[in-house]
Amino acid sequence: MIDPLNGSLWYRFWDKVEITNTCWLWVGAKGDHGYGAIGVNGARSSKGRKNCYVHRLSYEWFVGPIPKDLVIDHLCETRNCVCPEHLEPVTRIENMRRGMLGRDKKGKFCSKEDLEE
Ligand SMILES: [Zn+2]
Repeated sequence: MIDPLNGSLWYRFWDKVEITNTCWLWVGAKGDHGYGAIGVNGARSSKGRKNCYVHRLSYEWFVGPIPKDLVIDHLCETRNCVCPEHLEPVTRIENMRRGMLGRDKKGKFCSKEDLEE
């Protein structure tokens, strides 16, 4: 797990997050596939910075370590969302299966008030 205090990562993270009624949107740099990315000091080589996916950082900070070999699925289907409640570690195969099925899970995360607006 990457220490949030590593190179003021915590502050750089929040600087680029916009909290909306539904998602925590990453408005900073994006890496592959449209996922938010942030430079983290002290990669294994100890040289320079390595880019980490911000949704993975968020999950580890707010929920816990991501089991090895699992990928993070966005239940809200918003790739730049970093809200830990919208993230779920799944196997690659499960992630692909879900991607092919398409789904509408948004309701799962809406309170009644949200729906009545
Ligand atoms: Zn979301």
